[in-house]
Amino acid sequence: MGRFFEGGRWHDTGIGPSVEWTMNVGAKCVLCGEEGRVTVLCDDIKKYIYEGELVQNVWPDLSPEDRDILISWRNKKANANWDYHVCPSCYPSEEE
Ligand SMILES: [Zn+2]
Repeated sequence: MGRFFEGGRWHDTGIGPSVEWTMNVGAKCVLCGEEGRVTVLCDDIKKYIYEGELVQNVWPDLSPEDRDILISWRNKKANANWDYHVCPSCYPSEEE
């Protein structure tokens, strides 16, 4: 039995239907206009939005870049004027 990564978390293969309901979340970079996207489970989004769970608790296996998209997406949802998302390629690197 193996595991596969989908919808922002690991699943075991061989038990039940592979993946439940997923949704795509996107955030546009204010500098280059590139839209970052991440696919997560609807159940996890509900935990994050309605139960106020921390992003790192809901998606411990997602990369920081993907979590950033989720954070920006939630900020934008809460306030349509929020426009501060910066993608990893525009984000100034600290090790130069
Ligand atoms: Zn960018």
